[in-house]
Amino acid sequence: MKSYLSLARNILASNRKQRLSFPYKLTFCVTYWCNYKCKTCNIWQRKPKDELTIDEIRDFFRRSDRFNWIDFTGGEVWLRKDFVEIVEAAIRYCPNLAMLHFPTNGYLSDRIVEGVKEIIKLRPPKFIVTISTDGDEAVNDYVRGKEGGWRRQIETYKQLHAMSGVEVVLGMTLSSLNVNEYGKAFAAVKQECPWLKPSDFHLNVAHESAHYYGNQGTDVLIKDRRAVIEQVRRYRDSRGVPTHPVALIEWLYLRNAEQYLDTGRTPMRCHALHSSCFVDSWGDVYPCGMYDARLASLREHEYDLERIWNLPVTKKTQAEIWDYKCPQCWTPCEANQSIFGNLFGQHTTRVPVSGKFGKSKSPLEPVIPAPLRLTQIERRKTGDV
Ligand code: SF4
Ligand code: SF4
Repeated sequence: MKSYLSLARNILASNRKQRLSFPYKLTFCVTYWCNYKCKTCNIWQRKPKDELTIDEIRDFFRRSDRFNWIDFTGGEVWLRKDFVEIVEAAIRYCPNLAMLHFPTNGYLSDRIVEGVKEIIKLRPPKFIVTISTDGDEAVNDYVRGKEGGWRRQIETYKQLHAMSGVEVVLGMTLSSLNVNEYGKAFAAVKQECPWLKPSDFHLNVAHESAHYYGNQGTDVLIKDRRAVIEQVRRYRDSRGVPTHPVALIEWLYLRNAEQYLDTGRTPMRCHALHSSCFVDSWGDVYPCGMYDARLASLREHEYDLERIWNLPVTKKTQAEIWDYKCPQCWTPCEANQSIFGNLFGQHTTRVPVSGKFGKSKSPLEPVIPAPLRLTQIERRKTGDV
C-alpha cells in the first residue's frame, strides 16, 4: 500500500512543470544479447561484452532506490542467468516499488516459467510480463526470424497465464511487415487459448532507435502510416469502452498513437528526464530508449543515479525534450508517464504542428477528458463520425 501511495504522489507531482527530484519510472536494459533475429530490430547483431555485473546492479539499486516502477528489458532478459537475482535486488532495495514489468520473446519456455515462479516467491509488487507476438505462426516466425518461435511463445504464454501472482499479456509491434495481421494473430492464439480477449493483446508501433534497437533507416518499420492508423483504430474499438483506469490509459495510448502517426510529433510533452529515464546494460544513462543522447555513466558516478539526474547536461536535455527538441516518438516505455503527467491536458500542444511526417491536417487534440472520449467511441461505433 505504501508503495502505491508513493507512486500516486509521484504521478500527481509529475503533473507540474517542475521535474521530479528522482525518476519514479526506470527502463533498464539488462542485456543486449538476444536469441531472435527480428527484422524490425538489430539488437541481435550485437555481441556485447562487459555488461553490468550482478554486483554492480546491486550497488545501483542500493544507491538508487526511489523507483516506483521498473521495466526491465533487453535483448532477451532470460539470457542473463542472473536475471532473477537482478529482480531480487530491485525488490529488496527499492521499498516503494509498486510495479515490475518485463518483456520476453518467450522462446526459453522452461527457463522463463521456472524463473517467473522464483520471482513470484519474492513477493513482487504488481508484476506483469509481456510476451512478444508479431502475427500468426507463419508471420510471427518470419518477422521475428525464429523458426518454431510462435509455438514456444504460446506455450510460455499458456503456462504463465495459469499462474497466480503474475499478469501476462501478448505484445504486438506493428510495422510494414504485419500491419494487417492483428486479426489473424488474435485468431491463431485464440484457437490455442480460448479465454483470449482483445485486451490480452497490447499493440504498439515500430520505432527507430540508433543507440537501442540499432535500426535507424530500416525500411521495414512503417511505410504506410494510414494503414497503421486504421489498424490501431480497429484494435482500439475492438477493446470496447474502457471501464477501469488501466483500460483507459491503454485507450489513451492508442488514441494518441494515431495522432503521432498522423503528425510524427509526440502528442504531448514527453516526460523523459522529467519523471523517467533509461539505463543500458553498461550503466549508461539516456533520456529514453529512442533518443541517442547519452548523459553519463553510472560506473563513473558510483552507481548513484541521483547524481546523474542532477547534472547540468541532464537538466538541459530535459528542457529541450520538454520543448519537443528530440527525435519525437510515442514509445509505450515513455508514453504512459507522459499520459500520467498530463492528467488535466495541461501539457499538450493545441496548435497545428509539423512533425517528422509533415504538417498535421488538424489542430492536435488535447488529452480529452474521459467522458468526452467515450462519447466519441460510441459515435464512431454507430457510424456517426
Ligand atoms: S525485438 Fe526483442 S526479440 Fe527481437 S531482436 Fe530485438 S531484442 Fe531480440
Ligand atoms: S519523445 Fe520519444 S524520443 Fe523524445 S525524449 Fe520522449 S521518448 Fe525520447
